[in-house]
Amino acid sequence: MAIDIKIQAIKNSKIGTVDFNNLSFGKVFSDHVFQCDFINGNWQNPTIKPNEPILLNPAAKIFHYGQSIFEGMKAYKDESGNVFLFRPSENCRRLNISANRLMMPEIPEELFIQGIENLLKIDNDWIPSADGSSLYIRPFMFASSDGLRASPSDSYTFIITTAPSGAYFSEKIKVLIEEKYARAANGGVGYAKAGGNYAAQFYPTQLAIEKGYDQVIWTNDNSHEFIEEAGAMNIFIRIGDVLITSPTNDRILDGITRKSILQIAQDNNIYVEVRKISVNEVIQAAKQGHLKEMFGSGTAAVISPISSFGYQGTEYELPEIFETYASFLKKKITDIQTNKSKDPYGWRVKV
Ligand SMILES: *Cc1c(COP(=O)(O)O)cnc(C)c1O
Repeated sequence: MAIDIKIQAIKNSKIGTVDFNNLSFGKVFSDHVFQCDFINGNWQNPTIKPNEPILLNPAAKIFHYGQSIFEGMKAYKDESGNVFLFRPSENCRRLNISANRLMMPEIPEELFIQGIENLLKIDNDWIPSADGSSLYIRPFMFASSDGLRASPSDSYTFIITTAPSGAYFSEKIKVLIEEKYARAANGGVGYAKAGGNYAAQFYPTQLAIEKGYDQVIWTNDNSHEFIEEAGAMNIFIRIGDVLITSPTNDRILDGITRKSILQIAQDNNIYVEVRKISVNEVIQAAKQGHLKEMFGSGTAAVISPISSFGYQGTEYELPEIFETYASFLKKKITDIQTNKSKDPYGWRVKV
């Protein structure tokens, strides 16, 4: 059923001020946002309006108690101007998993999907079509009622904002295996895309950057023995010809790219193992020459290959190999996303 969305179109588009040949990630925003408010127990006022600052009371609960969750997804435009989303229902499902954990209201899927689709229609010119580029979509929800009591908010705001993004250069990253800090703990919120999880990563990541690394490899919180995630990405490790990734749990975000990689790998005769993988196993494999690849996976870069990792003061280089799983899988996934190949899974959704 079509939801009645109020449209307040911008008077003067900003698109003329944007250099589409020089887009960095998430810095330029399209003309409009979709907004919807949760008031008195219902989602109301679905509106598309100009992308402008929002007014909040200084006592709005988001500022004090951090009820804030988000999603990250992309729209792709093919050569003929057709626009596609990739597994958008999965993003809605996950937003609602995050919402439940943060004691926030679920968003109905029709509202989520129709909000995005209508926004993409009005801001269609903002969706880049150059190879590798896309429109990054950021749906998010926050506690908007006022009050300094540490309790859940009564009202919430859901907004979808979008940002045209150029081809994301996946330069290989240098990573540091974390031995002290943790991004998530059992019973915590690591599996939710909650704003505070990222705030908590910045400090340990900065310490790693000061040592010359790009990212932290998160290990399990109590013993730091097992490899869990790469920054804000899931992680894959290839030992010999086996592709290994940790099972999802309380501490690991259930990535849609991760899920898609697992499916594509299995269907292309890449042997995958979803199991715990220890730091020690990776180091032994590196020493014996069996460690072939490590890469992160996530919507923004799809796949980010890792060139080396540091652990307890030692650097371990990954070999330069031809025909990596990383490049094979990245091509398979992006070809589906951008309508360059068949989509046997029904993941691509035409807008
Ligand atoms: C978003 C995210 C991912 C990747 O999820 P995708 O659905 O593949 O984009 C992985 N880990 C963390 C911590 C994340 O926030």
